[in-house]
Amino acid sequence: METIFTKIRANVIPSTKVYEDELCFVILDINPVNKGHLLIITNEVYPTLADTPDEILAHLLVVAKKADAKLREVLGCPATNVVINNGEASGQEIPHLHLHIIPRYADDGKHLRFAKDHYSDGEIAELGKSLEFH
Ligand code: AMP
Repeated sequence: METIFTKIRANVIPSTKVYEDELCFVILDINPVNKGHLLIITNEVYPTLADTPDEILAHLLVVAKKADAKLREVLGCPATNVVINNGEASGQEIPHLHLHIIPRYADDGKHLRFAKDHYSDGEIAELGKSLEFH
């Protein structure tokens, strides 16, 4: 399966790559939330979290930790958002798993806030019971 990201990895579409290994590569997002916004992308195409092998998921978080450290070192950002849009309804545009690492600054106005819902009496316990997993 081909995606924009497989074309980027094959250098058919140009990008600014900052890291690569046998499982993933990292580029600068072309439309950053803040400058330095990185995308950690799997080398193989897995559309969503559920499709991605566990060992690759674990590796992506280790790479995210390194990317976060580099952003803090170079940009001086005191925080990052680490985001996965997981499925089209969540806003995922490219069905090829990737982590966004977004440099954040106090009062940068780039709010990543969801409007919150609430539970009725007893609903949270009932839902929690149905969501238990091992
Ligand atoms: P998502 O909505 O989670 O699928 O995110 C896709 C991201 O890919 C968006 O933030 C886009 O700005 C970014 N993007 C799309 N095309 C390119 C490209 N050619 N180079 C770098 N980033 C891209």
